[in-house]
Amino acid sequence: MDNKIVFDLIEKEKQRQLKGIELIASENFVSEDVMRAAGSVLTNKYAEGYPGRRYYGGCEIVDQIEQLAIDRAKKLFGAAYVNVQPHSGAQANAAVFLACLKPGDKVMGLDLSHGGHLTHGSPVNFSGLTYSPVFYRVRKEDGRIDYEEMEALARKEKPKMIIVGASAYSRDLDYAKFREVADEVGAILMADISHPSGLIAKGILKDPIPYCDIVTTTTHKTLRGTRGGIIMLGKDFENPFGHKTPKGEIKLMSQVIDGAVFPGIQGGPLEHIIAAKAITFEEALSDGYFKYILQVLKNAQALSTALMDRGFEIISGGTDNHLMLIDLHNKNITGKAAEKALEKADITCNKNMIPYDDRSPFVTSGIRFGTAAITTRGLKEEEMVKIADYVQEVVADPENEKVLARVKDEVNALMSSRPLFQW
Ligand code: PLP
Repeated sequence: MDNKIVFDLIEKEKQRQLKGIELIASENFVSEDVMRAAGSVLTNKYAEGYPGRRYYGGCEIVDQIEQLAIDRAKKLFGAAYVNVQPHSGAQANAAVFLACLKPGDKVMGLDLSHGGHLTHGSPVNFSGLTYSPVFYRVRKEDGRIDYEEMEALARKEKPKMIIVGASAYSRDLDYAKFREVADEVGAILMADISHPSGLIAKGILKDPIPYCDIVTTTTHKTLRGTRGGIIMLGKDFENPFGHKTPKGEIKLMSQVIDGAVFPGIQGGPLEHIIAAKAITFEEALSDGYFKYILQVLKNAQALSTALMDRGFEIISGGTDNHLMLIDLHNKNITGKAAEKALEKADITCNKNMIPYDDRSPFVTSGIRFGTAAITTRGLKEEEMVKIADYVQEVVADPENEKVLARVKDEVNALMSSRPLFQW
């Protein structure tokens, strides 16, 4: 058996992470404790079902772990109910679709090329393949969500579910407005806070919990935890779709969601990952995490300002959260070329469609940056200015191997001696 090759590759990946500047907005670095739980013997355990009602024996310990994860998530987000079993954000969303919709039902989300996510109705995803999506968008003038257009579209299309949330939108969201619209058209309202969930949990951004019927999030972006997803209800309520218990009583929404996750779309839960989620939530409840997430925001604002000072156009003119979307038209480079050149200088980011993009998703006119990961590595505002300089140098001369090599050396000097994770 030769597993050395795998461990050698893991070590190489660790070195790549250590020496580079990580600007991918959906990534972060986890603590040793999260890593220990995720790599623990809990991976050996089958536990289909939920704490206290499993289909397997030997679950008394994992029951306690899963309950801890649930209780901590409830406390962190102020939720009445949490399902911690979704293996990922996409699966959390799939379970909500299954719980709330029938194939062909209409769902309204933010257009993917305007900052939405694949699972909010994209034609290449289950959400667009199985259901009938309609999309609201951002305004061309200022890159902000066009709430009037969203309202008019909801009135016209009468979606059964409205999704508020995004992957590449740097502004806070008006959940109260979405609630008003959902009430008017009789839609269920779901928020997907995968990206800004850490900022929301600590009160830095508006809280969707009082306004949205269902809230999903990933646990590995700004929340800085293990990869995974969760589903929350601010308060439980009778499901409006008529799902009944075997005794003929109307099921609570929490029961419908539990059934949609398991047995609906998943089998056995990943109890090692659920243990890592329990640690993630406890870490996020701490004052140290509050300081961290505040710095994430300060860094994002410092980076976007420094980039704008160097002539970069940021969609919507700045950021309220951890990310920014950069329109590269005035720099005469595509998103694809910029991503590639930056990678050669050990700066990782992703090409990204910008609203009303004239290029394909494989090329794009934009790149997306986020500060969650670099803040975990201990970078502060002064380093954001350096990063803006590096980006400017690379984007201005993307084919110049000498420039790329010099920036790479500077990046490596800045990052190599910093631990991946620090409080
Ligand atoms: N929802 C949003 C808004 C996201 O940005 C993402 C991931 O980028 C997801 C869901 C999916 O998460 P995962 O990759 O864990 O399936």
